[in-house]
Amino acid sequence: MTPEELKALVRTVPGFPQPGIQFRDITPLLAHAKGLAGSITALADLARGVEAQAVAGIEARGFIFGTALALELGLGFVPLRKPGKLPVATISEDYALEYGTARLELDPTLIERGERVLLVDDLLATGGTATAGMRLLRRAGAIVEHALFLIDLPDLPGRAALADEGVAAHAVMA
Ligand code: 5GP
Repeated sequence: MTPEELKALVRTVPGFPQPGIQFRDITPLLAHAKGLAGSITALADLARGVEAQAVAGIEARGFIFGTALALELGLGFVPLRKPGKLPVATISEDYALEYGTARLELDPTLIERGERVLLVDDLLATGGTATAGMRLLRRAGAIVEHALFLIDLPDLPGRAALADEGVAAHAVMA
């Protein structure tokens, strides 16, 4: 499927989760057999030429794309989780949301020192979530130089924020 065909499967929902937000709902794409397969193929195409020993995905939608991509690339998958989900000692990063804060947690024993990790999420907006994920992975010893997204919202500063941290953002669609 072309990026345009994939984009047509993403539903824009005005006013969710709050007034003024145009939420990009990827669930119609996930439910569409060719859309799901095509989105993973497109992410794998973006990953070609990027050296990686593991894929890390951000809960929850980053788990869907990240796990499928890891299988496609023949790599393992490392989850970056919401608070309180992991049964072992974790490291955590807090980050700002438009209203309030959020936290991601990682079991650092899942990362080998010097391992190149490809960070995956469904959507890049301000870059706060991906930056927190990158920081966690680096604190655990990973090298993180590339991040993959299905959607980049180009009017928001996520790509530039990641570039400032030495991470190149790649996206299937804008
Ligand atoms: P950021 O931290 O870059 O501002 O926001 C990106 C994070 O919030 C991602 O984890 C993404 O899943 C979620 N997110 C923010 N806006 C949207 C949206 O419109 N659609 C979807 N699917 N996720 C969003």
